[in-house]
Amino acid sequence: MTSTALPTTDELRARARGGLQNIGVDVAEGNDFHARTPITGESLLGLTAATDAATEEAIAAARTAFLTWRTTPAPRRGELVRRLGELLREHKSDLADLVTIEAGKIRSEALGEIQEMIDICDFAVGLSRQLYGRTIASERPGHRLAETWHPLGVVGVISAFNFPAAVWSWNTAIALVCGDTVVWKPSELTPLISLACDHLLARAAEEVGAPRDVHRLVLGDRAIGEKLVDDPRVALVSATGSTRMGREVGPRVAARFGRSLLELGGNNAAIVAPSADLDLAIQGIVFAAAGTAGQRCTTLRRLIVHRDIAGTFIERLTAAYHKLPIGNPFDDTTLVGPLISTTALDAMRGALSRVQAQGGKILAGGNRRLTEAAPSAAYTEPVLVRVDEQTDVVREETFAPILYVLTYDTLDEAIALHNDVPQGLSSSIFTRDQQEAEIFLSAAGSDCGIANVNIGTSGAEIGGAFGGEKDTGGGRESGSDAWKAYMRAATNTINYSSELALAQGVSFL
Ligand code: NAD
Repeated sequence: MTSTALPTTDELRARARGGLQNIGVDVAEGNDFHARTPITGESLLGLTAATDAATEEAIAAARTAFLTWRTTPAPRRGELVRRLGELLREHKSDLADLVTIEAGKIRSEALGEIQEMIDICDFAVGLSRQLYGRTIASERPGHRLAETWHPLGVVGVISAFNFPAAVWSWNTAIALVCGDTVVWKPSELTPLISLACDHLLARAAEEVGAPRDVHRLVLGDRAIGEKLVDDPRVALVSATGSTRMGREVGPRVAARFGRSLLELGGNNAAIVAPSADLDLAIQGIVFAAAGTAGQRCTTLRRLIVHRDIAGTFIERLTAAYHKLPIGNPFDDTTLVGPLISTTALDAMRGALSRVQAQGGKILAGGNRRLTEAAPSAAYTEPVLVRVDEQTDVVREETFAPILYVLTYDTLDEAIALHNDVPQGLSSSIFTRDQQEAEIFLSAAGSDCGIANVNIGTSGAEIGGAFGGEKDTGGGRESGSDAWKAYMRAATNTINYSSELALAQGVSFL
């Protein structure tokens, strides 16, 4: 199914300008690069990128602001984030418009992305009164051992196009309450939503009396990101994107003994056991695999179905795929918007040719849509591909809506297939058998950072820490105790006796 006619680029440009104006952003237009929309695949506005000197100045300014911010009481730092959360609530609709225009997300997912930002602000405000250390029993009389947490410094945030605003807020809301300052290099594909977020944070800072330079935005391509990666004043580089990017960034930051938090590609799988509630499984799987046009790091890319139910299950899934409404992401009936670019579509087609050459059979989808209405855009039907084994292409992340379907006979076999990929982000099992569910969640089960039962692989809440193992990079962001990555711990020994007792009974003098 194709949903209603697409808006024109002129209409989208006017809507983007209107949204930016409502938010209060004054865009400095230029010729360095273009804001584009995947809805038509065309350019919206020309923009100015940060120069090397401007990036240098932004890092220096954030470092200077850090010197005041680190000693501002954490609950007062929380007031800045509370105000940011209020402004995000106020401008939710305009911000969601920008996400749809630049990233192509359907309206409900774009609104969800902004809601996620509001949620993390609420979480961070609470956290600003809970940056707890511990008191540890000392082995020496008249001594106290304590662990205290201190701000780290400037955090360089490098983000990807597919969560152009939420990933920034996960990092920034937490970093700010932790006493850090932030320099943000967003994806070059989503500059307008970045300008809007930066503007709202600057406004919040002004209103609560925080230093303006607690946050700086630097627009541009990866070369600007590399400046953050190599600069010793950037204490933590939090980088979200492809595994290729992480492989370049991780060793460079480590070479200068900086810290990195890497949130990279996934190749997420779900197991469907014979006892599964199949209605629930179909719903969960279609959302996880085709939602966001397959462009979430947590998108479901591999389905491992028990052989006894595979026939019926695949038939139902194929029928659901045939009914997916594809097209204008502003239309409420659309479930699948565009891919980010025709380059992404080429990569998808390349993967499909390779998997077919390796024996894969396309069960549903794969045709390009709306080529006449928008020749420069990349609309495609999500694809289901039956494969007998996990060939090299199945073991890679192709950032597009391709779901590879495999079958299994025993749970051990399913878990082995599940874990036999380089990535380790998200995973799930659909089962009503408690023993199977617990095995999947156990140390011998899924090897991913996220493991779910009776729900798909995507759509995490902010309360839990988010991140993945292996080639996904090992970072933990957002909720739980992920805040510890944004602070440094100090162990304190306080002697309140009049004796100098040495540890381990050592005597000296
Ligand atoms: P990308 O790797 O092309 O770019 C991500 C960001 O890194 C951009 O801002 C880019 O300019 C910058 N960059 C690229 N190379 C760099 C380098 N050498 N040094 C410094 N900066 C560099 O990714 P993308 O296409 O924007 O996003 C899709 C990818 O991101 C997918 O692989 C997806 O799985 C992943 N992703 C992961 C998570 C997660 O939390 N694990 C979340 C969202 C997206």
